[in-house]
Amino acid sequence: MAAAVAAAEAGARVCVLEASDRIGRPILASGNGRCNFSNARIEAAQYHNAAFVADVLAVFEQTVRTDTKLNARATQARSSQRMPHSRRADHDDQVGALGMPECPNGVVAFFQQHGLAWREEAEGRLYPLANKASAVLDVLRAALDARAVEVRCNARVERLEPCFGKRGSFTLRLEGSTTVRARAVVVASGGATARTLLPDAFSYTTTRPVLGPIATDARFVRRLDNIRAKGTVALERQGRMLACERGEIMFRSYGISGIAAFNLSRHMQPGDVLQINLLGQLPGVQGCVAAAHGEPSTAGTGGSEYAHRADASAKASASAAFAGANAFMRRRADDLRAVYGESLTCAEALRGLVLPSVANVVAEYAGVRMDAVLDDAALDALAGALTNFRISACGIGDARVCQVHRGGFAVESFAPQTLEALRQPGLHVVGEALDVDAPCGGYNLHWAFATGILAGRAAALGGAARRKAKDAR
Ligand SMILES: Cc1cc2nc3c(=O)[nH]c(=O)nc-3n(C[C@H](O)[C@H](O)[C@H](O)COP(=O)(O)OP(=O)(O)OC[C@H]3O[C@@H](n4cnc5c(N)ncnc54)[C@H](O)[C@@H]3O)c2cc1C
Repeated sequence: MAAAVAAAEAGARVCVLEASDRIGRPILASGNGRCNFSNARIEAAQYHNAAFVADVLAVFEQTVRTDTKLNARATQARSSQRMPHSRRADHDDQVGALGMPECPNGVVAFFQQHGLAWREEAEGRLYPLANKASAVLDVLRAALDARAVEVRCNARVERLEPCFGKRGSFTLRLEGSTTVRARAVVVASGGATARTLLPDAFSYTTTRPVLGPIATDARFVRRLDNIRAKGTVALERQGRMLACERGEIMFRSYGISGIAAFNLSRHMQPGDVLQINLLGQLPGVQGCVAAAHGEPSTAGTGGSEYAHRADASAKASASAAFAGANAFMRRRADDLRAVYGESLTCAEALRGLVLPSVANVVAEYAGVRMDAVLDDAALDALAGALTNFRISACGIGDARVCQVHRGGFAVESFAPQTLEALRQPGLHVVGEALDVDAPCGGYNLHWAFATGILAGRAAALGGAARRKAKDAR
């Protein structure tokens, strides 16, 4: 839809072909119905195929800045982007010319120009001010109408064929043997795009769902179904910590869910170990965060409170967390002995620290009895279990709730300036159909919208240039 708006605004006659009975369904489902449509602090490094994404987003921001219609908003975006985070926070409270805060990036500028009011939440996540995904869809639909873009629903494209001998012209074969001719095409068909849509020459990585819950060894977690805890989770492979997330951990009967698990699922392979630190929110017990950076970072990334891709030692992380937890538990035990006496039990030491069902599982994992007196050995074992609760990952827990797909058309086949196929002028591929994905936090929709706008505009201008050349002949 964004591609169609951008192409129409650049002067093209545009038709949207949508397989389902209405356009924009994925937008309505996003962000729990609220549509986290972008992020105020987009970092290309957060994306799979980051170098390509960095090039695309740099061109996109530049294009938006030089676009006359978006220029006013983009100038604001530029000044906001140059500003250090600390100052930007104050600055964001200031209200810009249209009664809105200044735009942090070109996607926001595009939406604001078309009438969307928006607001920023934790970690830079951006939502419509109306707090409903339908507001984003309404704005896009209105922009399509305003530019008289034809929208055909129930129109599934089965194959896209270049017309040989006609450079830059295509035949789209639709279900039911209808065909549509186009001078340029933007493929924005999402992550489950059929490989068969494009000619075989396009290199493609088979897709798999990611950004979803992780299935684990269920021995302990099955007794914690639906329990939420705050902490850190590190993903470990052969003793190396690959990634670490801090935030909410939701236990499921089959594994773990929540934003931290979703983000880790992008890096996870079956057989990896999840190192759960249930005290990871306490100062001095951060573990993976501290091991990755020496000290906790306050830079939010994609969705959970902290997220770090770190090539740090998992052992160093666990021992840092253990030392902090051990000192904390010792202080806590001393305080509680003043109330409950010298025969303080493990159950009493855990009460009020974690929920009772979590306490039972932690004690079992630690190999201590809940009614045993908390001696030094029990305290060490509990501190270890609370900070280094290790479970092995088996795979994605429930593919139906995954938010994106890893895989798709290889980015190397497309020009970062236009998303146009290097070997097929006039053919552009955008969004999740490319082998690009990112963590939670508005990154994936930002990518879909930014690439859509860039490609739609390029498709229209490229088509016009080709038409001019043809007319001249
Ligand atoms: C539950 C859920 C929540 C999410 N929440 C967020 C969020 O808050 N923030 C965020 O950044 N990301 C979120 N995502 C991810 C985000 O929705 C996607 O990354 C994004 O929608 C991808 O955009 P796209 O345009 O590439 O593809 P899509 O949005 O998937 O759109 C593709 C469209 O093409 C149509 N189509 C497919 N094949 C054909 C065909 N052959 N012919 C014609 N039409 C076809 C589809 O019906 C669909 O309408 C969420 C995903 C899910 C599943």
